[in-house]
Amino acid sequence: MSKEKFILQLKWAEMITPSVRHLAFERVDGVRLDFIPGQFITIHFEAEGKPVRRSYSIATIPGASDLIEFSAGHFPGGLATELLFNLEVGQQLEATGPFGKLVLREEKPARYIFVATSTGITPFRSMMPELARRMEKEGLSVIQLLGVQKRVDLLYQDEFLKFAKQHPQYQFQAHFSRESAENLESHEHIGYVQTAFEHLNLDPTKDVVYLCGNPNMIDEAFNKLKELGFDSQNIRREKYISSN
Ligand SMILES: Cc1cc2nc3c(=O)[nH]c(=O)nc-3n(C[C@H](O)[C@H](O)[C@H](O)COP(=O)(O)OP(=O)(O)OC[C@H]3O[C@@H](n4cnc5c(N)ncnc54)[C@H](O)[C@@H]3O)c2cc1C
Repeated sequence: MSKEKFILQLKWAEMITPSVRHLAFERVDGVRLDFIPGQFITIHFEAEGKPVRRSYSIATIPGASDLIEFSAGHFPGGLATELLFNLEVGQQLEATGPFGKLVLREEKPARYIFVATSTGITPFRSMMPELARRMEKEGLSVIQLLGVQKRVDLLYQDEFLKFAKQHPQYQFQAHFSRESAENLESHEHIGYVQTAFEHLNLDPTKDVVYLCGNPNMIDEAFNKLKELGFDSQNIRREKYISSN
């Protein structure tokens, strides 16, 4: 079923950082996209006379929106970048999905550590209602780490900070790779996001780690976690790379 193509029509879009555009689509056939938070869709288009496909994690927060939302980072010269950053309200795209296994499982770890770079945060945005339920009912703790270059690159920060205020077991940390170390707020840190591991008292018997975004971050974080005794079962990854 999910390999069947459907048409998405752009309902609204906005720049949420200087280099990230959030887009919200509706399915033209009116069918509801039945996705599990954490999954992605794939868009299909032609560029330079060739078929191209690119995947995007669904950013929709279940219950808050019925639209199919995702956020796209800007890559100069990128084929999908060219398409998505110029797409106007009412224009259409071909898509398939949902796909992907970076989803919450039926399990009860003491703590989830979610590690993202830039738009890699979107799967975790979509998981918020289910996380809220598990934190309230199952005593789960969650640490969300987001790595970006500078403060202006933080996406959805207000939503994550608000969520942290509402849920004492939830912590949000922003990590900057190219920001000045002056005037940092209590949730802000300097350095690559994976350097945060040293301060989290990670415990392979209690923690489950999800990694999403930049492939270099994921490889480095994965190796660090293995050194700390994590089993591959307790590290879940999704690398943002272009399909073809
Ligand atoms: C499962 C999955 C989910 C994804 N979800 C998202 C998402 O939610 N949001 C999102 O923005 N992207 C996401 N991606 C990545 C996305 O599919 C594209 O790879 C990305 O948008 C770049 O496509 P492009 O056609 O604009 O650039 P391309 O034409 O593929 O590349 C243009 C240039 O940009 C460089 N480049 C491409 N991607 C990256 C990168 N990640 N980091 C550094 N340089 C890069 C290339 O090396 C090249 O030089 C996801 C990928 C996968 C596999």
